[in-house]
Amino acid sequence: MKNIFRSAFGTSFAKLLASLCILASVQPALASTDYPPAIWNPAASCNYSARTAAISHVTVHTTQGSYAGSISWFQNCSAGVSAHYVIRSSDGQVTQMVNESAKAWHVGNSNGYTVGIEHEGYVANPSAWYTTAMYTASAALTRDILASRSLAQKVYDGASGWNAVPSDSLFNVKGHVNFASQSHTDPGSGWDWPRYKSLVAGSTGGGSTPATWPLVQYGNTGERVRTIQYLLQQWGYSLTVNASFDTATQTAVKNFQSSHGLGSDGVVGNATWPALVVLTQQGDSGAKVRAVQSQLNESGAGITVDGAFGPATATAVRNYQTSKGLSADGIVGDDTWNKMAW
Ligand SMILES: [Zn+2]
Repeated sequence: MKNIFRSAFGTSFAKLLASLCILASVQPALASTDYPPAIWNPAASCNYSARTAAISHVTVHTTQGSYAGSISWFQNCSAGVSAHYVIRSSDGQVTQMVNESAKAWHVGNSNGYTVGIEHEGYVANPSAWYTTAMYTASAALTRDILASRSLAQKVYDGASGWNAVPSDSLFNVKGHVNFASQSHTDPGSGWDWPRYKSLVAGSTGGGSTPATWPLVQYGNTGERVRTIQYLLQQWGYSLTVNASFDTATQTAVKNFQSSHGLGSDGVVGNATWPALVVLTQQGDSGAKVRAVQSQLNESGAGITVDGAFGPATATAVRNYQTSKGLSADGIVGDDTWNKMAW
């Protein structure tokens, strides 16, 4: 008994000593130099290479595995893949694994000019994994990536569908699935693009100077109310477009807000406008086009409000943009919507 006891004690003591040695050798977590809130835990150098182009875009991914598992996978040369950042679902912890100045391997032909952010979770179970903490942490990181290069905040609005492949020139923050020639489907149909866009481009603090939007609420009337009503129609809400912020409009705004993780106060301000507006261009049709045409007529364009974005509408948009000091590309993005909203 004594021998067994001593042997058992000896083993435990050896283990304790070993643990103390490990503790003594553990360094405090290193901070990232690109993004100080992140932990620096580098990928294996066999899993990334030198940049081939300037950074212009951010790619949103889903790990299809755990946070810890993804980190260790990027440290394994068998992976042959990597990402600049990995974000934990439960609390939004950010780990940086590849310097932004290097080319991580995450989005094929687009690796050269993008920064890749992996979000812990599974495409098939978005409600369990895409938490508020993760959206918020990711949006803050994306704002930082864009701001440090003075890039515009052109976040995909989701309006063409979760798996659309819009041109790189229209949006500089897109999902893996939204880049050309990809076989992956992440971040999937459950990623809330209007919410993410609001968090990145809305006036919620931090990053570069965000646009400010008019506060529009119950009892207001006029063209900007009409725009909100058209945009709500565009998102599938049925209500009458009457330029009067009535109870039906307020209810639709609240429903839109609660379905996109925005505070459902029924007031359209700096957080809700960026989620509500969608990129509109020649060839488009529907309520968003009516919103644009009606706004242009407010400025004297004299075009038909028919919901069809043809050459006459494009010309009117360009004239409007020129008059407001915007780049006259004929595409109604956030900057143009913002000028019209005022
Ligand atoms: Zn991906």
